[in-house]
Amino acid sequence: MSLPEELLRVVELTRAHNRWRRFEAINLIPSENVMSPLAEAAYMTDMMHRYAEGKPKKRYYQGLIYVDEVELLLMDLMSRLFKVKYVEPRPISGTIANAAVFRVLGKPGDKALIAPVQAGAHVSHTRFGTLGALGIEHIEMPFDQERWNVDVDKATKMIESVKPAFVTLGGSVYMFPHPTKEIAQAAHSVGVKLIHDVAHVLGLIAGGVWSNPIHEGADVITSSTHKTFPGPQGGVIMTDDEELYKEISRVIFPWFLSNHHLHRLPATAVTAVEMMVFGEEYARQIVKNSVAFAEACAEEGFKVPTEHLGFTKSHMFVIDVRNLGGGAKAATLLERANIIVNKNLLPWDPPEAVKDPSGIRLGTPEMTRLGMKEGDFKEVAKFMREVLIDGRPPEEVRKKVVEFRKNFVEVKYGFSVPEELEKELTKIPILL
Ligand SMILES: *Cc1c(COP(=O)(O)O)cnc(C)c1O
Repeated sequence: MSLPEELLRVVELTRAHNRWRRFEAINLIPSENVMSPLAEAAYMTDMMHRYAEGKPKKRYYQGLIYVDEVELLLMDLMSRLFKVKYVEPRPISGTIANAAVFRVLGKPGDKALIAPVQAGAHVSHTRFGTLGALGIEHIEMPFDQERWNVDVDKATKMIESVKPAFVTLGGSVYMFPHPTKEIAQAAHSVGVKLIHDVAHVLGLIAGGVWSNPIHEGADVITSSTHKTFPGPQGGVIMTDDEELYKEISRVIFPWFLSNHHLHRLPATAVTAVEMMVFGEEYARQIVKNSVAFAEACAEEGFKVPTEHLGFTKSHMFVIDVRNLGGGAKAATLLERANIIVNKNLLPWDPPEAVKDPSGIRLGTPEMTRLGMKEGDFKEVAKFMREVLIDGRPPEEVRKKVVEFRKNFVEVKYGFSVPEELEKELTKIPILL
């Protein structure tokens, strides 16, 4: 029987996407990454079809003998990797992790102090996102534009005068560590808890190049599991506070999810082990690449507004492309050259500029994982200059990008599927 036309179309689109994003494009989106072959294999399992409500061994469904063990193993691995006592791995995303913690610490009508939007606060931290949906008002702490960070003195005073229900740090434009110690002290002095959202930097924490906010006074961390931490898309909550952990675990199900997408669990566990083995080398290379890439962008003639701060201490940085037609145009031109970035608001942009902001945001995690080193990112900066500054036709540059990209196809810092297992595994084929 020949396949229905619609089906052929679905297959064709999927294959085109895979070929483009996995083999032909340079992905610089700092919130994305790829799993190792072993983690991908562990993701493509029957667990994706199953239901589990509740905690391991206290479920509302049968058939979970092995799922329970995997979930407990994952909790133990994450607890050892991040040196925290309690791990709640069920949130299916970073946003859901935030929702559960916000709801436990605040109620409708409360106020929350958040990192300034210019310092990268995520939409879920704001009244336009999850916080707003929970009926909690957000108040931004003051921003220190010179240091691209929370203004500690002003924020401390604000915490004392506002007495919020809780305080959050962390963000999605995250080049310099937020002042956890000082803000934790201020929050605790008025009897409230500090949440630090480490979605972007979880992999850097795993590798020891970024400190774990729990060890600096934060009461709880929330995160995604698929950004610098290169696992499957998902979320996690970690804390040393037993009472808080119990409360969060009581509400995450049934308030914020029923099923928690079980195939994430073994894939996240594989990634946790990989971070124990390769994490330090991986995280160091990500940051070295990020600094070298930002430096190269400045040398090629781009404006990197954090140059005076040593460019960046994380996996990402921004460039100001106002003089080159703005963020929307730059991101579109680069996409035509197979260089994938996202446009981003810069601190001086008004909020309504979100559709055409001044900046683009660039990160090194995925290409580092595929083997790029400092010198390779210099080449990427040159491709970007050709498109955005020299005005060369993007399609012409794309040919060079595709050629260059052929050198970076294998995932490093992770495990492959052992040969003896390869034949046995029931994988859903990834169409390439
Ligand atoms: C990405 C991100 C999130 C949301 O995570 P999802 O898994 O996409 O829901 C939350 N907080 C910050 C700071 C982020 O960057």
